[in-house]
Amino acid sequence: MVSIPPDLLDNREAISRVLQEQPAGLFLDIDGTLAPLHPDPTAVTITAAVRQAIASLSERMEVVVLSGRATADSRGIVGSDAVTYVGNHGSEWLRDGQESVLAVAREFVPRMHQIASDALVRFVDWPGVYVEDKGPSISIHYRTVADRPAAAAAIGRFIDEHPAAVGLRHSDGKLVKEVRPPIDINKGTAVATVVEERGLRAAAMLGDDTTDVDAFRAVARMRDAGRIQGLSIGVLSAGTPGEVLEAADYSLADTNAVERLLVWLADLGGQG
Ligand SMILES: [Mg+2]
Repeated sequence: MVSIPPDLLDNREAISRVLQEQPAGLFLDIDGTLAPLHPDPTAVTITAAVRQAIASLSERMEVVVLSGRATADSRGIVGSDAVTYVGNHGSEWLRDGQESVLAVAREFVPRMHQIASDALVRFVDWPGVYVEDKGPSISIHYRTVADRPAAAAAIGRFIDEHPAAVGLRHSDGKLVKEVRPPIDINKGTAVATVVEERGLRAAAMLGDDTTDVDAFRAVARMRDAGRIQGLSIGVLSAGTPGEVLEAADYSLADTNAVERLLVWLADLGGQG
C-alpha cells in the first residue's frame, strides 16, 4: 500500500517558498486537476474562481497547462491567452498565439486518423464509448459505459489488433485508453523544455494521472540536479494510480482543494 503524500493545504509554505524563486513556472493538468473528471469529456468546465486565479497568476509567473487534450480544446476550457498550452501529452503547443505540432509527432497523424475512424465504426453500437481523434494521438473513453470491464477489454483488443497501431504506444488512463506516437515526448519533456527555454528557476506541477508522473519525475530530476526549486502535487480521487502517490511530494484532496490553493496563491501575490 502506497502512502498518501502530505496535504499541501496544510503545508502551503512549501509551494509559496518554491514559487518565490523567480522566474517561476506553474504547470497544471486539466481533467481531474483543474476540473473534476466528467462522464462526458466534452462537457468539462473550470470554475470562474479557478479561471480568475490562473489569469492573475499568469501575470507574475509562467503558467503552463499540460493536457492529453488538443491545445485548442484546452484553450477553450481555460480561456486565457496569457497561458502556454501543451496538448497531446507534449507534442502540440499553443504559445503566444502560435500553434505548432512537433514534427516527430506530425508524421503519425494519418495513422491515428485511420485507427480513430475504424474505432468509430467498431464501437458505434456501444453506448458510452467515445472516440477522440486528437491528431497526433487518440483517446477512447469508456467512463459512461455500463459494463466498463467489458468495454476496457474490447477497446484494448481493438487497439492491440489494429494493423496501424503496431509499434505505437498504447496506454491506460482513468477510464480511457490512448494511442500515442512511439516518441519520447511526454508531459515531462514539455516541462523540461519550458524550464530551459524560459530560464525558470522554480517549477510546481499539479496532476492526477499516470501521464502526469512523467512531469513529476522531470521536476524531481531538475531539482535533484540543483537546476530548479521544484514541487510535485498529486490531486486525489477514488482511482488515484499508485505511481502518482509515489512520485508526488504533496497531495490535494480533490479539485476543490486545487481551487482553494490557486485562489490563495493568486491572493498572496496581490498582497505582496
Ligand atoms: Mg488529469
